[in-house]
Amino acid sequence: MRPRMKSLFLLTATALTLLTSATQAAERPNILFIFTDDHAFQSISAYGSKINETPNIDRLAREGMIFHRCYVPNSICGPVRAVIQTGKYSHQNGFLVNGNKFNGKQQTFPKLLQQAGYQTAVVGKWHLGEHMPPQGYDYSEVLIGQGPYYNPPMLKNGKRTKHIGYTTDIITDLALAWLQKTRDPQRPFMLMYQHKAPHRNWQPSPKHLHLYDDVTIPEPETLFDDYSGRGTPAKTQDMTIAKTMTDSDLKLVPPRNLTPEQREVWDAAYEPKNQAFRAANLTGKALVRWKYQRYIKDYLRCIASVDDNIGRMLDYLDTSGLAKNTMVIYSSDQGFYLGEHGWFDKRWMYEESLRTPLIVRWPGATKPGSVNRDIVSPLDFAETFLDVAGAPIPSDMQGHSLQPILRGNTPKNWRKSFYYHYYEFPGWHDVRRHYGVTNGRYKLIHFYEPDIDEWELYDLQSDPHELQSVYDTPQLAKVQSQLVAELARLRQALDVPAEDPPASLGGGKDNPNSVKIRQQKKPAPPQRQPERKSSP
Ligand code: CA
Repeated sequence: MRPRMKSLFLLTATALTLLTSATQAAERPNILFIFTDDHAFQSISAYGSKINETPNIDRLAREGMIFHRCYVPNSICGPVRAVIQTGKYSHQNGFLVNGNKFNGKQQTFPKLLQQAGYQTAVVGKWHLGEHMPPQGYDYSEVLIGQGPYYNPPMLKNGKRTKHIGYTTDIITDLALAWLQKTRDPQRPFMLMYQHKAPHRNWQPSPKHLHLYDDVTIPEPETLFDDYSGRGTPAKTQDMTIAKTMTDSDLKLVPPRNLTPEQREVWDAAYEPKNQAFRAANLTGKALVRWKYQRYIKDYLRCIASVDDNIGRMLDYLDTSGLAKNTMVIYSSDQGFYLGEHGWFDKRWMYEESLRTPLIVRWPGATKPGSVNRDIVSPLDFAETFLDVAGAPIPSDMQGHSLQPILRGNTPKNWRKSFYYHYYEFPGWHDVRRHYGVTNGRYKLIHFYEPDIDEWELYDLQSDPHELQSVYDTPQLAKVQSQLVAELARLRQALDVPAEDPPASLGGGKDNPNSVKIRQQKKPAPPQRQPERKSSP
């Protein structure tokens, strides 16, 4: 026995190296990145949704790991997409607001995966400005800008194509076609399969136009929030269901790009309900309640199509045999308000828009049914993908690979706090510029423009809906000063410039809506005078 065993270990070092790298190459996982636009975790049953069921997304959670603290660095569509491509914050990748154009020449993770031998593809929503075709992809078939819910024109490797049908189904058809027919089965792949849904204005598939017709969806507790516990920005925003929603959002007018057949099915679904609505002549809270039901049902109908199509994709992975060596990620570009605080849309550092869904199924690595509460971010995706592909991670990326967490071993020095920065003011929905820090329990926010210099502090344990800022309360003096210091530390560590970059004005210096961005003062430590402030 002994001589034979010994001979086994007498393989030359070169042969061992070759053997190891061949094994690694064979085992390198495929990466399927399933991405949606504006999908709130509150509408995923694996996250405890009280308003809908998402059986196929839930299947991923059951077979993988669900993350409860995935925070976006800048809660708005284009910027988060740029963060994912680059593994860098907005101020480093140059895409600060929707309206910026992504610099496709810079370092991105798909380019690095290509260099590592992966084939890369993106199908569906791209939304990083007019830079086309997307760089770093062997194959792309993407919507132009936001893209419509029906009959989308698309760009296939930069050339215009036209499709008739429902966009969520079409994007899945195209992604499946690439997997089945186009890709090279000898090499690992990274496919970004990215939906437009459930972005505004929430147009459902013909298949789901009557879903929820006979039910009343529960309202969020804060639908009639009066913003009394927060500062100026929450009171001056323009994103309420009550006032901001348009007739088009509410389907009181039909979409303009339907075929006659699609239009007929659409009108049959909405016209009787719209007639009843007009006859009821609702006002006040009753009107808001009607708008909420119309909004949330259409939003959830769009989710139903997303979930159906994820089911198609998971079935294909199973039947093709790809499932066992494919890491499947489900995420969205940010969270969204489903009537909480009376709002729709995103942008705020408040929980519903800061937190985004993240579920990862990685057979053989991630324990099925695991739940994670570490602070992670889309900022980490690029490094994670490079890491699992065995590719080197550039030192200028600003996230961390999730690989150890996915394997159930969170590093001891994993981040305990997170920096957030939103720039898009002036802009849609009038949400003021702000930055802040959270450690998962407490959250400090600074609205820092020239006319608004306000701080807010929330204790998410005692006030999970963030209804009452406790900034400058004596009981939390220590917490507040620690967060102020942590904020300064993070801004320095992340190289956040003292002044917002000019690109944060979107249209540039000539933007007529532009405002002068104030030199940001270094935040002063809070002043404490407990004896004067003690409450009765
Ligand atoms: Ca979005």
